[in-house]
Amino acid sequence: MPTTSPRLDRMALRAQFPALAQEVGGHPLVYLDNAATSQKPQSVLDALAAYYEDDNANVHRGIHELSRRATTAFEGARVKLAKFIGAPDSAELVWTRGTTEAINLVASSWGMDTLGDGDEILLSSLEHHSNIVPWQLVASRTGARLRYIEMDEQGRLILDYLPELLTDRTRLVAVSHISNALGTVNPIREIADQAKQVGALVLVDGAQAVPHRRVDVQELGCDFYAFSGHKMCGPTGSGGLWARRSLLESMPPYQGGGEMIRMVERDTSTWAEIPHKFEAGTPNIAGAIALGAAADFLDEVGFNAIAEHERELLSYALERLDDMGGINVYGPTDLDERSGVISFTMGDAHPHDISTILDSRGIAIRAGHHCAQLVMQHFGISATARASFYLYNSTDDVDHLIEGLASVKEIFGPA
Ligand code: PLP
Repeated sequence: MPTTSPRLDRMALRAQFPALAQEVGGHPLVYLDNAATSQKPQSVLDALAAYYEDDNANVHRGIHELSRRATTAFEGARVKLAKFIGAPDSAELVWTRGTTEAINLVASSWGMDTLGDGDEILLSSLEHHSNIVPWQLVASRTGARLRYIEMDEQGRLILDYLPELLTDRTRLVAVSHISNALGTVNPIREIADQAKQVGALVLVDGAQAVPHRRVDVQELGCDFYAFSGHKMCGPTGSGGLWARRSLLESMPPYQGGGEMIRMVERDTSTWAEIPHKFEAGTPNIAGAIALGAAADFLDEVGFNAIAEHERELLSYALERLDDMGGINVYGPTDLDERSGVISFTMGDAHPHDISTILDSRGIAIRAGHHCAQLVMQHFGISATARASFYLYNSTDDVDHLIEGLASVKEIFGPA
């Protein structure tokens, strides 16, 4: 059995995640549903508790000690997260509830303001519904048209057709950095370079990338980058949208309310500076502060170690699944083109049955269409089982998964 990366002390790491220490149904928990959400380290839980125990106050408005502390921690986290994704200016990072809200913000604000009849939005058939449905909503209200970059039999985007898909009507290319359904890693820089040639903006859904690799929004050459805190060891309801300053400044507010205004008159108002213009109402203060702690945690472990560890797990798991036989794994065969997500089917066993049998052994995976029904349609299936890794998983976890799948095989017979 291969050992995991020496640079990543998995046992010490794992011990920092209280939820991983529990048993489920009398079995030690094997958590392999990380593409849905990650577990949280103690430092993140402590940051959440510390805000509520010591500094609980609303931000920006209060002229008292607790409000000053809360504001300093809240804005400090923004600076931290901006740096974490390579943003040149922390004012370019808008806090959101996560990737979904970040994309909806762009669709509602930039999309509704800018798009018109016959304009084109280029998506891909690999997308999570969060990067499809907001654009459908905008298209139906503006007359814009949706077009798609298709994928090949391994779930890789076919970029050969990109020059034809990009026209002088293309206003936006919106693609995922990494697919949650297949693990495909998309060549964002290449896509962005081509999009720029027709003057289109580029939005990247980074939900599955920011937790697993060093993201630099400037190197990617994109205009908008969306991500979720809960998939990167942070709290649910936290996340962000990065966009270039000039774009954010040109966009109308997304929601109205407190915090986002400069001056309110009876009939009109003027707006606060970015990023506050897009942050109406009391924000998720504790969430943002704890997301800052999650970024510190990941920085401390280091993305080189995380990426190397996940690749080893992926390689080991694919090898064991292949040895087992009867398992159909979807997604790219080249490990350089995929992340630690394994989507698979097993003969006649429905993915929900696979997941239920594994759950009875304390193993958490996901089964379903993974909010990516276009991916399922592409492969002519309705669902897959999906195991997804993170920094605290081990080859032992993979072994448990394989043993669990062997028992699925016993029940359903060979494929
Ligand atoms: N995009 C991708 C690729 C995802 O995997 C997910 C969540 O699974 C989302 C978007 C939506 O993220 P959230 O629910 O955190 O807004």
